[in-house]
Amino acid sequence: MPTTYQAPRKSDNQQKKTVSQSTQSNFAAGTATVQNIIANKGDDVFSISPLDNLGKAVELLSEKRIGALVVTDSDNTLLGILSERDIVRKLAETPGRTLPHKVEQVMTSNVEVCTRDEALVSVLRRMTDGRFRHMPVMEGKKLVGVVTIGDVVNYRLNELEYETLQLKQLVVG
Ligand code: AMP
Repeated sequence: MPTTYQAPRKSDNQQKKTVSQSTQSNFAAGTATVQNIIANKGDDVFSISPLDNLGKAVELLSEKRIGALVVTDSDNTLLGILSERDIVRKLAETPGRTLPHKVEQVMTSNVEVCTRDEALVSVLRRMTDGRFRHMPVMEGKKLVGVVTIGDVVNYRLNELEYETLQLKQLVVG
């Protein structure tokens, strides 16, 4: 008996769909970690004591060409973070009288930290949500580096350039 045409029904098309891309896969398959940055950049950590004054902090920030200092005690325990933004805020509050203030009066004490094995995509998300650009890297209680939002973006840009080159080579042969 001849069959008549039947339009496809929704239930005919229920095989599992796959996607070739996602936010996660677009960020180096979510595999790049803080360690990738520390391995390139090194584990230098520029720190200051809570009892030093902002004059010293400004000198260090300028000399080292950085945007933040971690605040540590004599045992190297992390006590806070002091960024150029904290100093600018204090400058606005106390014009002409800012530099003698102690670091501990101006620093942020509640510091968000990461470990070497945290995914860069996660660090970037936390920095963006928390509106800060620096993240100390810890191994237990030990400070083992600092990553900045600039480091993360720069790492990803290099990866994108490499991926583009690979795609071009595939197309050109
Ligand atoms: P930043 O964008 O890093 O210059 O800092 C902006 C503000 O966030 C300043 O008040 C910093 O003290 C603070 N801050 C910087 N890094 C962190 C961090 N990892 N955790 C918590 N606060 C931070």
